[in-house]
Amino acid sequence: MSNDSTNVDPLELEKFSQLAHLWWDPNSEFKPLHEINPLRLDYIDRFSNLKDKVVLDVGCGGGILSESMSVRGAKVTGTDLGEKSLKVAKLHLLETGNRVEYRNVAVEDLAEEYPHHYDVVTCMEMLEHVPDPASIVRSCAKLAKPGGWVFFSTLNRNPKSYLYAVVGAEYLLNLLPRGTHDYAKFIKPSELARMARNARLDTLEITGMTYNPMTQIYSLSPDSSVNYIMVCRA
Ligand code: SAH
Repeated sequence: MSNDSTNVDPLELEKFSQLAHLWWDPNSEFKPLHEINPLRLDYIDRFSNLKDKVVLDVGCGGGILSESMSVRGAKVTGTDLGEKSLKVAKLHLLETGNRVEYRNVAVEDLAEEYPHHYDVVTCMEMLEHVPDPASIVRSCAKLAKPGGWVFFSTLNRNPKSYLYAVVGAEYLLNLLPRGTHDYAKFIKPSELARMARNARLDTLEITGMTYNPMTQIYSLSPDSSVNYIMVCRA
């Protein structure tokens, strides 16, 4: 797929639209995102030192990560193609007084508008919902300044991730609505690293975000078999 704004699956957007009113309910279907947010925020901040940085959050949804990065002193733009999610994200700013610029724009189009502009680009839990993730990775690379930081997180593809992210989360624990995740779209770290390399990004580290069903606690760990974050430099 080329650099255009067709790299979107309308059914995927619809899934998130249906739930958009719940983005900021920490006990809703978005509970896992609320629970991993402090972990990923600290991780991103540790590498990139967010204060005063110009940051882009691609596929920001209701703004869980975007707002938290702005609280750390970053100047954040959040983009998504889900109109309802962006509406909820903007309304939430009225409640908190935090500052984020939200835009409904495809990342491929934004890369034409603002090439090499951002100190930090984050793209969390979004690549597994698009038809052509490599195109998103290329655009994120293009949006980053030379030497800038680019972070991706997504779901690995193997029997364990199927068990945890689909069977466990959607069917046994009811953490997520059924049909949230399409196993075929999960991405192995080696595949994501190849996409990054093809986009001329240097991959520095891959870290797991693991869920312990016994303690019901998420933590960062070397185990990237289910959910993982990859940090790259442009
Ligand atoms: N990044 C956020 C939300 C993850 S949910 C977080 O981690 O907290 C996935 C988000 O990706 C949804 O908000 C959905 O609307 C968005 N999305 C799906 N396809 C997209 C596309 N092609 N372009 C931009 N956003 C997309």
